[in-house]
Amino acid sequence: MQVTCAQSYKNLHNKAIVVDTHNDILETCFNKGYSFDQELTGKTHSDLKRFKEGGIDVQFFSIWCDGNQKNPFAYANRMIDTLYATALRNPDKIKIAFTSRELLKAVHKKKLAAMIGVEGGHMIENDLKNLDNLYNRGARYMTLTWNNSTPWATSALKETKDSLLSQRKGLNDFGRTVVKRMNELGMLIDLSHVGEQTFWDAINTSTKPILVSHSCVYSLCPAFRNLKDDQIKAVGKNGGVIHLNFYSGFLDSTYGRKDAAFNKIHKAERDSLLKVNPEPYFADEFLYAKYNDEVQEMKAPFHLLFDHLAYLIKLIGVDHVGLGSDYDGINSTPQHLNTVVDYPLITKQLLARGYSNKDIIKILGGNFLRLLKANEKK
Ligand SMILES: [Zn+2]
Repeated sequence: MQVTCAQSYKNLHNKAIVVDTHNDILETCFNKGYSFDQELTGKTHSDLKRFKEGGIDVQFFSIWCDGNQKNPFAYANRMIDTLYATALRNPDKIKIAFTSRELLKAVHKKKLAAMIGVEGGHMIENDLKNLDNLYNRGARYMTLTWNNSTPWATSALKETKDSLLSQRKGLNDFGRTVVKRMNELGMLIDLSHVGEQTFWDAINTSTKPILVSHSCVYSLCPAFRNLKDDQIKAVGKNGGVIHLNFYSGFLDSTYGRKDAAFNKIHKAERDSLLKVNPEPYFADEFLYAKYNDEVQEMKAPFHLLFDHLAYLIKLIGVDHVGLGSDYDGINSTPQHLNTVVDYPLITKQLLARGYSNKDIIKILGGNFLRLLKANEKK
């Protein structure tokens, strides 16, 4: 029997261990009172059933709150509790993995291997004991900053957009201690969201390969927290892996203009929303849901994700790239990649672009597995 193209990409997608290093469904559940073991089609990008449909084997769940959250460490723990509870309710479908061994065991049993990533160093509240505690509960990466800086690390947003930044840029002594402690624990240092100076201080301090969990290429789309060529080369040299974000605004250099035009049209409504909550993502979420037709027109073209990938591969090789969609944390996905169920289209497109099966398996998750093992305690 002749194997059709459709069968071969699906077979390859199923055979590969597909790893996604960033998903915000937990936060969406927390805010809206959902649970991701419910059917959430039409409401979110992801749920437990749709992870399966999309062929995702390993999903990092982001533990996140913004910089204004009171008691962020307690908040992080409550989010972890939610993930634990979901896993307890579905022991046949999901297993929280602490190690590469547990990850492989879960995948072998056809369960979703759930892993925990802490997005924002502010959640340790300047205390290494809290870092240890999060590690002990399963956190296997921490993004040193989110968009807010911590007292010990400056973020990309603050380094680039805050002209009155009084803080010295980069990591201070405590910041370097955090990086060293993460190395000791076997917790991946995630350099998405961090400022350029923090990036250099961290990569020069870390004794292990680092992670970039959800970022894209600055040369193709000059968004404030995309990676510049010298940073990309440094990740290659360090043995790290850059996982691409699917956000239209990080892939498509024309998106910012389109988004600004959208905001101009809806300015009056946006201003009133910003009075309720000054964080722009709140107003964006509301307006994007309300004016969905306009938003569909703004999506990044599908090919751009693969252009970013090809750029990284050309610069540092196929061993240093992966995927970190940011589903449920972004309000514009590329065309055709509307939700987690569309993940197999990535494998189809990689084959169409001429990548070998071996390279596709690395991109989809093999590179991440190598990175995780390199960080684990021996
Ligand atoms: Zn993020």
